[in-house]
Amino acid sequence: MEFTLPAPIDDVRRRVRAFVDERLIPLEADRVNYDEHENVREDVLARMRGEARAAGLWALQMPKSRGGGGLPFVGMAACYEEMNRSIFGPAAFNSAAPDDGNMMVLERVGTDAQKTRWLQPIVEGRVRSSFVMTEPHPGGGSDPAMIATTAEKRGDRWVVRGRKWFITGADAASHFLLIARTSDDARRGHTAFMFHRDQPGWRLLRRIPIMGPEEHGGHGELVFDGLEIDDGDRLLGVGEGLKVAQIRLGPARLTHCMRWLGLARRSLEIAQEYIGRRMSGGRRLADRESVQLQMGEAAMQVRIGRLLVMHAASKLDAGAMARNELSMAKVHVADALHRAVDTAIQLNGGRGYSKDTPLEWIYRYARQARLVDGASEVHKTVIARHLAEDAEAFFDWNRLDLPKRSTSA
Ligand SMILES: Cc1cc2nc3c(=O)[nH]c(=O)nc-3n(C[C@H](O)[C@H](O)[C@H](O)COP(=O)(O)OP(=O)(O)OC[C@H]3O[C@@H](n4cnc5c(N)ncnc54)[C@H](O)[C@@H]3O)c2cc1C
Repeated sequence: MEFTLPAPIDDVRRRVRAFVDERLIPLEADRVNYDEHENVREDVLARMRGEARAAGLWALQMPKSRGGGGLPFVGMAACYEEMNRSIFGPAAFNSAAPDDGNMMVLERVGTDAQKTRWLQPIVEGRVRSSFVMTEPHPGGGSDPAMIATTAEKRGDRWVVRGRKWFITGADAASHFLLIARTSDDARRGHTAFMFHRDQPGWRLLRRIPIMGPEEHGGHGELVFDGLEIDDGDRLLGVGEGLKVAQIRLGPARLTHCMRWLGLARRSLEIAQEYIGRRMSGGRRLADRESVQLQMGEAAMQVRIGRLLVMHAASKLDAGAMARNELSMAKVHVADALHRAVDTAIQLNGGRGYSKDTPLEWIYRYARQARLVDGASEVHKTVIARHLAEDAEAFFDWNRLDLPKRSTSA
């Protein structure tokens, strides 16, 4: 059992950390660097992306042959955590959702031609992308078997009709990965497709207003009324849509956790700085036991989260599906982020509720963590199912969990 980072990974991690400290965190304090949706302004982002690329810190999750950093999941865990110590970090390094997850799945399942057309422009930062799965009632949400948007085969094309919502980045994306129903089969009734923003037959009905700051392109509600997709833009086989979704969502959930750990750490850093200098009753807040209990609890939850993330990451690196480990990490880290930022706001007093620090930004952002890519309740049922089915094997130290369960919630 080895808990130290390999030296080459730690070197990248240190360089990411320095970039975040020197180039990104200073930008956060000036409102002029924000767009109207509380994210980093596009021209500022473009400048930072140029610098990150020049520093060799670009798309670390992608193979070097594509212009990425070639990191394994364990390396990504260390670096993504550092990146998201700044709220601007993931976008600057081209490791933000949903591009991050879309790149990883296209790299896994795309043909060479599909990778050239759909993946490489995202890796190079020339376009953005969206993942199009969730639907409003009565369509598919937590239960993807309920997906109602249809793709009907006509010759060598598919015609798509239906509605999707909460599609992150839709207002700025050019490449869309769509999951649609192609038959009534519960498990093999879905298929995955790519389409381009300029194709006719779909429209952005609205940009859904949300409580938190927005990713670039917001969260779209989409209507499909006859979008035609060439069969060559289908990913994997007909009926393998949920498999594609699972291949995408597993690692993407984990990279969410990696980033959320960074936000949690930043929250605790801000709290630590304040309680170290703020006096009350003649003592620094940091010297009060009640304050120490809050900080200790929050820091411990973050460290537990990191262990869960690293465990899941090492399993993914070994080729496992790691469904159970991913679910545990997702549930725990979402809660650890809440605990950390809530503690930090409380210990900063009125300052914590202000916009003088990014804490209120992180707090509003954090609320989505218990919902996106599977609500916490759904992940807990996945864990319970593993416990019930696997009995003793659930606690087996050496189990690799190679892909015996291919798809499901
Ligand atoms: C900010 C944000 C960004 C998102 N980005 C995307 C995106 O880019 N692409 C995309 O396709 N989707 C996206 N989503 C959608 C997200 O994945 C879904 O909201 C999530 O999967 C839950 O589905 P739902 O909203 O339909 O909730 P529902 O299925 O309606 O469930 C509502 C609640 O019921 C409970 N529940 C549901 N099922 C169960 C169960 N089996 N057991 C116990 N409790 C249950 C949970 O508490 C759940 O939160 C995004 C959502 C948000 C908020």
